[in-house]
Amino acid sequence: MSVSIVSRKSWGARPWNGDPADVPYSKRSEFFVHYHGGVPAASTGVAVPRAVEKIHIDQNKWAGVGYNFMVDQNGTVYEGRGWGLVGAHCPNHNTSGFGVYVAIGGDQKPSDAALRSVRALYDEACKRTGKTLAKRGHKDGFATACPGVHLYQWVKDGMPAPKAAEPEPAPEKPKAPAPKPKPKPASKIVSLNSAVKPGARHAQVKELQQLLVKAGYGPIKGAYTTFYGTETQKAVARFHDRNPAYRSGLHDPRIGPKGFVALQKQAGRR
Ligand SMILES: [Zn+2]
Repeated sequence: MSVSIVSRKSWGARPWNGDPADVPYSKRSEFFVHYHGGVPAASTGVAVPRAVEKIHIDQNKWAGVGYNFMVDQNGTVYEGRGWGLVGAHCPNHNTSGFGVYVAIGGDQKPSDAALRSVRALYDEACKRTGKTLAKRGHKDGFATACPGVHLYQWVKDGMPAPKAAEPEPAPEKPKAPAPKPKPKPASKIVSLNSAVKPGARHAQVKELQQLLVKAGYGPIKGAYTTFYGTETQKAVARFHDRNPAYRSGLHDPRIGPKGFVALQKQAGRR
């Protein structure tokens, strides 16, 4: 987890009240965790570093925020002395130790987000210094209650990073029903066998009769057979009367190839 840090400029830090010394990574060997003592004025947002700064400059007369970083209860990290400046958080350990403040006090519990960020800062500090820094609570270096019961226990436990909450699944967008693909069956239109003619017998005559009835040119008495009889011829004539484009004469009893295709479409074939 890389650490995203809100810079001094971004949270509106006041100019340094002095000139805190640079500390090379080679001089770092430990990592201190702090809390507020009393309940902090703010536990989230830029009010957190601003409130700490006010105490450290106005009351303590320090150069600015004494911690290297501050972490609020949302897990947001604010820059104090940063990675490179001497701290003002634990006597005799301000050069060797990074100091990280968590915006809780009293018996308040640190949030998982805050703990994750402190752990991420620790990992980043080890990476930058190339060392496994000692994990410490303020009280390990100075007689104080800091960092309080919960944070200190967490430090003693080895600063385990609480698991991040499962990301919320993106809310499902109400989908417009997908347009149903038009069923596209293979064309069922068939061609007319040339043997299908008035007076003839052919297997396809039965199909012709069914199509005529389905398309509304029935009834065909005695259907369905393979015989292209007078009832079938009358039905074909009715088809032609209504669809003169396909006929070759008045009351044409003979279905032609084009008429047969048109009839199939009228009967619902595609
Ligand atoms: Zn402390």
